Amino acid sequence: MHVRKMDKQSKNALKRAKKSANKFLREIHEPLHDMAGTIYIGEYMAVDAILSEHDDKEQALPEIGSNAMGYADSQINRLMADDIPCKEGCHYCCYQDVHITKAEVVLITLVVDQISDKVKQNLLNDKSDYVSLNGSAPMPYSLCPLLEDGKCMIYDYRPVFCRSYCSLSLETCKASHESEIAGGDAIPVSLDAGINAIGQTISSAIHKRLGGNDHLYLRDVLRDHFGIPQPDKTPVGKIPSMLKP
Ligand code: SF4
Ligand code: SF4
Repeated sequence: MHVRKMDKQSKNALKRAKKSANKFLREIHEPLHDMAGTIYIGEYMAVDAILSEHDDKEQALPEIGSNAMGYADSQINRLMADDIPCKEGCHYCCYQDVHITKAEVVLITLVVDQISDKVKQNLLNDKSDYVSLNGSAPMPYSLCPLLEDGKCMIYDYRPVFCRSYCSLSLETCKASHESEIAGGDAIPVSLDAGINAIGQTISSAIHKRLGGNDHLYLRDVLRDHFGIPQPDKTPVGKIPSMLKP
């Protein structure tokens, strides 16, 4: 194959583009880095304080979960733009595996026990694990078992992950969801990186302070909670019937 040599003008244009991209990354990265450091320490110390009030670490978990949700909200509200499209009832982002800390697990399972019949039914109906929607590479595509008629059944107690999954564009969320449902590829969603970083930072601080498995998924822990066997995670390469339009 013949590779055309770059002329001087193109080389200079590339150099300028790299310089301005680096400047842009530095500008957004440094404030994010500073903010994440402060939030990480804040959350770590809060977990510490709650643990010190309990002899039994397990008893402290619901309070740690509830405190983390409140702390996430307070930090998110501080940064969130007024016209952010995310609101209760918007659900295009509720079709993915939700990461969760073990403190939130304990709190959420207490809440979910009040609506256990519906959640169990959703889990039993769920055939969407690790399905390759377009028959190519396997991908974890999930319908959250806590979603009912397009609404989160535990909205006030939704995980930090969900609170900090904030989009700058409802259109990209909708387009991505519709593309996947139709068997196409996911379209990149215009996520607000700052808000997203808040959730990840709070979860990391909890994992660090509590230790243990930091790769928990909401659906998997709910299955365990209700004694429902984990499905075979082999990709089946077709659209599950419950996801068909
Ligand atoms: S992230 Fe997208 S789908 Fe989710 S609530 Fe926000 S706008 Fe709606
Ligand atoms: S917990 Fe609620 S907000 Fe989070 S993915 Fe499930 S239905 Fe959506």
